[in-house]
Amino acid sequence: MLKPGRDLRRDLRAHGRLVISFLLALVAAMAVSSSAHAGQWPEEKGGQALGEAPELLLTFDDGPHETLSKSILDTLKERNYKAIFFWTGRRVTGEKAGLDERLALVQRAVREGHLVGNHTVNHAKLCSVKKEEAEQEIDDNRKLYETLTGLPMFLMRVPYGARCKRLEKMLAERNIRHTHWDLDPQEFRHHSTDLAVQYVTRKLARLENGKRAILLMHDTQPVTATALPRILDWIEEENVRRLEALSSTLDDQGKRKGRRQRRPDKLPIRIISGSEFVGQRYPAPLLGVAEAGLLEVGQMLRTTSLQILPHP
Ligand SMILES: [Zn+2]
Repeated sequence: MLKPGRDLRRDLRAHGRLVISFLLALVAAMAVSSSAHAGQWPEEKGGQALGEAPELLLTFDDGPHETLSKSILDTLKERNYKAIFFWTGRRVTGEKAGLDERLALVQRAVREGHLVGNHTVNHAKLCSVKKEEAEQEIDDNRKLYETLTGLPMFLMRVPYGARCKRLEKMLAERNIRHTHWDLDPQEFRHHSTDLAVQYVTRKLARLENGKRAILLMHDTQPVTATALPRILDWIEEENVRRLEALSSTLDDQGKRKGRRQRRPDKLPIRIISGSEFVGQRYPAPLLGVAEAGLLEVGQMLRTTSLQILPHP
């Protein structure tokens, strides 16, 4: 596992300044460009579950944030769930306060079994900016995080879920697939923990057996940190209710012949890890990466022809 030492950190900061100044020069062009193509990515949503149970994949965008990502990681660790974080490069470069904490959180997330996906350096509108800029946003962020984590970054969530032909081609050329979402509580708009929890739990209550939902929240929003434990509480309590319903139905089947039985239509909700998701969705050799386990991946990369890219 790479540890960003003083030299690496200095290089990352220099890189960040370069990218930021480069992008500042493009602000005018971005201002006049058309809005992002709000296409859909139907084939990239949760899709079919691994098993019969309804499944949930937790994903968090826009971090790392020195206190909110930490709080989310604490919650996930306490309950032993693994998520995917789609993080931006601008938060791990530059001279900003909290940089050391954010760098440490990147390392911690990977160490604790979460996956880190690409969300561009500057949360860019990839269908609006110039082609070279869009490519740089994707490639620079990948290099940054591959250097920080020692892991390949093949997961991506396009900011705003933007979709256009040019971007589709760009991602295909890089063997990257956008990971879309099913549940979007819009907590970044209303800032209400209650609304976020209500939205997610109502949707999860209706999630069918054999189906998977990908939850999108933002680890830069205080609501995400406060809503997450309540959402997980609801899932755990709901799962107990479903198990009780299942076991009482099984009892009834033996005891009350001839009487109409209520079949529990929903199995307990399973929260799957990012690795399980990748293992199902991505072909070998990425499947091998998922199976090898995250901590072994760094070693594997060092001993095979795959290379950790040098820092920019
Ligand atoms: Zn975002």
